[in-house]
Amino acid sequence: MFPNILERVCPGQRPQLGAGWGAHCSMRSHCRLHSYWSESGGCRALLSCAAMGQGWAAPGLPCLLLLLLCCGCPLLVPGQGTTRQVTVSQTTTSQTTTSSQTTTSLTTTHQTTTSSPKTQSPNLVSDETEASKFVEEYDRISQVVLNQYAEANWNYNTNITSEGSKMLLEMSTQMANHTVKYGTWARKFDVTNFQNATVKRMIKKIQDLERAALPVKELEEYNQILLDLETKYSVASVCYANGTCLQLEPDLSNLMATSRNYEELLWAWKGWRDKVGRAILPHFPRYVELTNKAARLNGYVDGGDSWRSMYEMPFLEHDLEQLFQQLQPLYLHLHAYVRRALYRHYGPEHINLEGPIPAHLLGNMWAQSWSNIYDLVVPFPSAPRMDVTEAMIKQGWTPQRIFKEADNFFTSLGLLPVPPEFWNKSMLEKPTDGREVVCHASAWDFFNGKDFRIKQCTSVNMEDLVVAHHEMGHIQYFMQYKDLPVTFREGANPGFHEAIGDVLALSVTTPKHLYNINLLSSEDGGYEEDINFLMKMALDKIAFVPFSYLVDQWRWRVFDRSITKENYNQEWWSLRLKYQGLCPPVARSQGDFDPGAKFHIPSSVPYIRYFISFIIQFQFHEALCQAAGHQGPLHKCDIYQSKEAGKRLADAMKLGFSQPWPEAMKLITGQPNMSASAIMTYFKPLLDWLQTENGRHGETLGWPQYNWTPNSARLEGSLLGTGRVNFLGLNLEEQQARVGQWVLLFLGVTLLVATLGLTQRLFSVRHHSLHQPHRGPQFGSEVELRHS
Ligand SMILES: [Zn+2]
Repeated sequence: MFPNILERVCPGQRPQLGAGWGAHCSMRSHCRLHSYWSESGGCRALLSCAAMGQGWAAPGLPCLLLLLLCCGCPLLVPGQGTTRQVTVSQTTTSQTTTSSQTTTSLTTTHQTTTSSPKTQSPNLVSDETEASKFVEEYDRISQVVLNQYAEANWNYNTNITSEGSKMLLEMSTQMANHTVKYGTWARKFDVTNFQNATVKRMIKKIQDLERAALPVKELEEYNQILLDLETKYSVASVCYANGTCLQLEPDLSNLMATSRNYEELLWAWKGWRDKVGRAILPHFPRYVELTNKAARLNGYVDGGDSWRSMYEMPFLEHDLEQLFQQLQPLYLHLHAYVRRALYRHYGPEHINLEGPIPAHLLGNMWAQSWSNIYDLVVPFPSAPRMDVTEAMIKQGWTPQRIFKEADNFFTSLGLLPVPPEFWNKSMLEKPTDGREVVCHASAWDFFNGKDFRIKQCTSVNMEDLVVAHHEMGHIQYFMQYKDLPVTFREGANPGFHEAIGDVLALSVTTPKHLYNINLLSSEDGGYEEDINFLMKMALDKIAFVPFSYLVDQWRWRVFDRSITKENYNQEWWSLRLKYQGLCPPVARSQGDFDPGAKFHIPSSVPYIRYFISFIIQFQFHEALCQAAGHQGPLHKCDIYQSKEAGKRLADAMKLGFSQPWPEAMKLITGQPNMSASAIMTYFKPLLDWLQTENGRHGETLGWPQYNWTPNSARLEGSLLGTGRVNFLGLNLEEQQARVGQWVLLFLGVTLLVATLGLTQRLFSVRHHSLHQPHRGPQFGSEVELRHS
């Protein structure tokens, strides 16, 4: 019953105009130097990540690693290279990175011409010894440049000021110069017949200039746009009429999580989009344009092609669709069950049991994780609930304690403890000194082998306990591959990097483990508690699947121009409807840009990694549980203290990006493929229960009434001061709607008069003549009225 209607938007909403898009693998992520942003189970603080490793001794690669993670590595040797002249002027920058590292001085003024290896084939270098020397130098210099960039980026992210922004842009330029210098140099090598596969893989990666391939002026413009977009997102707030303003974290996130008032939720949902989406929109088309241009200059078709390339999978889109299809039945059952619960709470005027769910009622600003409405949907209310937030608060947990707990779990597996620098330099709480910061959780690698940090506006609750493990997973990855050349300090693929911490969280959140750390009063309560637990997990893990799948479906199509700026928002909602079964609670217009109200869009962080992570983390969990000797249902497994499980993870992480990801998959699971079977096994007891429960209610799966509109969208949409209203399905200015109302009133009165006249006439006709052939003009009048 899944409605096969992709192109429709919930009624009442008008297509909006989207802004351009653009996304290219942005160097941004890259530029963040490998900051990893995570979207783990939770919603609120979503993410984390970045990293840089430390110096090393072998070949190095600059390749703006940045992009590596997010953008995909350059497997393509830049085809028609640009032939622009680049003057690389590295100002002298000395920096000591690690104890074992020498001080490096960059004082080069280098002139290079970026050109296609093909066009210069006669001059290509095929000497492997020379290539080895090149990658060694690249690695040595890259560690310094990446470290400096990471510091500037960190400073800006933890204190948003114009001075910091200037410094960051300067460092971006330095990074770009570095990338162009070494990328151009790398393109002079013909690696076709190289025997050393490592050097070959590194050089191919360094050949991708990423955004630095752009002409200087455009690169400056692009960097500025990226900075502006993220800053607009990070400093936005939504204000009440009395002047009190709420920021996203923690205020709006908490409101979305805890309010059960339809109108209040609508205020926050719409207010955030009015503030952020609309601010992002004007810059987005240009961002898209430049992202695509940079991608093309590196030999890709467009930005999406560049982003996808990092997976080294020729049929990536097809393979992902297969995985999504396997999970869809579980999602449809969860959706139907949750919709029924919302119907009970909000009533038939707000919820249609055969339609999409209004997107603001699921406990999260983007409806990507639904665990915050667990109280509304708990299967067995009398059985113990699985949220330990209350216990954490009662016991006086702090953000520091949360991270200590996570560190303890890693070391229990025989993995590495975080170094002292982590505790001294991380930002684990939102500053209270008035600084504006980028709250979105992230993990950072400073590429010196000892400095790894997390930036998270941590709240003491169960959700952030999970997010903290997620972030610590990135840190562990950074530490495990810190001795590899910089070029390989990446996850096996971006999904791997996102999955590590989540795998541990799958154990941490079991009733058994929570009981062991004194957050639950009983260890195992039987069937009802089991189903409650699995429901809580599904609200995070299964609800997230379609969202994580659709974000880049949208962006890839923006990059390939099949979605244009005129229909950005309309197409966004088409995908939200198709995959998630959601509709906007109020009419949308061309001035809205709802994708822009999600962090990863203005921040240019690719998103499909989270979809992949959610699939493979269950594969990892299943394999590690087996290694740990777990017996019984998968969802009850806790790998705590299993050195065998830890070793498998460590072995895979140590590979970094040095080999294609199936090799790392084999080290953990014993086979090379991604598969949805583990996640289906994990949730099998819940699926069985949902099938029975939904059958009992005669629930409709899917949303056949896809064009149903919630009351809030049907009624006028000016409630929240948008300046526009939904009038008879049209999105009009208030003045236009007012005129329409007068016209309707006039027509109504006319109709009333006409009806009275008709009644009187019919009465008269019946009494006076059976031979009258016509009924008079009344019907004609009715038609006219309808048209009006
Ligand atoms: Zn992450």
